[in-house]
Amino acid sequence: MIGILGALHEEVLLLKENMHIEAVHHLGGRDYYEGTLFGQRIVLVLSNIGKVAVSITATLLIDHFDIDYVLFIGVAGAGNSFVKIGDVVVADFLLQHDVDVRPFYNRHEVAILNKALFAADEALAHRLLSATKTFFSEHLSVHVDPKTLEKFSVYQPQAHLATIASGDQFIQDATVLRDIHDRIWSGQNVILGCVEMEGAAVAQVCYELNKPCVVLRTISDNANHSASIDFQAFLKEVSSQYALGIVECFFKNL
Ligand code: SAH
Repeated sequence: MIGILGALHEEVLLLKENMHIEAVHHLGGRDYYEGTLFGQRIVLVLSNIGKVAVSITATLLIDHFDIDYVLFIGVAGAGNSFVKIGDVVVADFLLQHDVDVRPFYNRHEVAILNKALFAADEALAHRLLSATKTFFSEHLSVHVDPKTLEKFSVYQPQAHLATIASGDQFIQDATVLRDIHDRIWSGQNVILGCVEMEGAAVAQVCYELNKPCVVLRTISDNANHSASIDFQAFLKEVSSQYALGIVECFFKNL
């Protein structure tokens, strides 16, 4: 069984509408939908926003269901100028940019675990990346009206395998973004793909509870002054459709 998490209603909406629901489990204030989607057994749950919310949700998911791996799907702000709105970032590694226990640990390192970068499952990440590429090249126009994509200046969306940084902060300032980008580069020597508010927390929970995880983020904004406007519109019109199309390619191994 595959556990699927999303932080926002729009991120899981079409997955829920398209799945065959067999049972709903109410745990810790969340509804866990158990059933099938594109031939796979899944549990789908809306985690709510932020690291603590998603940690509660992922922990209950792993504890109560026989999960093979956790798949997180959502939107994020672009982490560098090569990543554009409408692109997708699949995580290779994830890091909590707001963790700072200096001088006892290096910046970003989680105390006791002595770890800043949490790895996504490599094989799953590569499969998800290739499913995203297939979605873009063969199925995008079926799922999203080309006029809608044009409105957001999405022309040839790309799928990136890159590091995702999470923190309890909506990033909407280019200077703040640059600071996160630069200190991850200088401290961890990895390039920031995108910023969001849950992924690295899921990765830490999965690491500690010994479950593989994979995280996919559609870029909804540039994490700058216009982030909150871009984000809302994009979420409504594009991200649900991306989620459904990519999960279909991923589950059917297209
Ligand atoms: N509109 C929501 C708040 C969204 S917070 C409400 O009213 O409740 C932003 C969500 O999108 C988070 O789940 C986060 O993971 C993701 N996200 C998208 N762009 C982001 C950015 N620029 N910075 C941080 N998180 C971002």
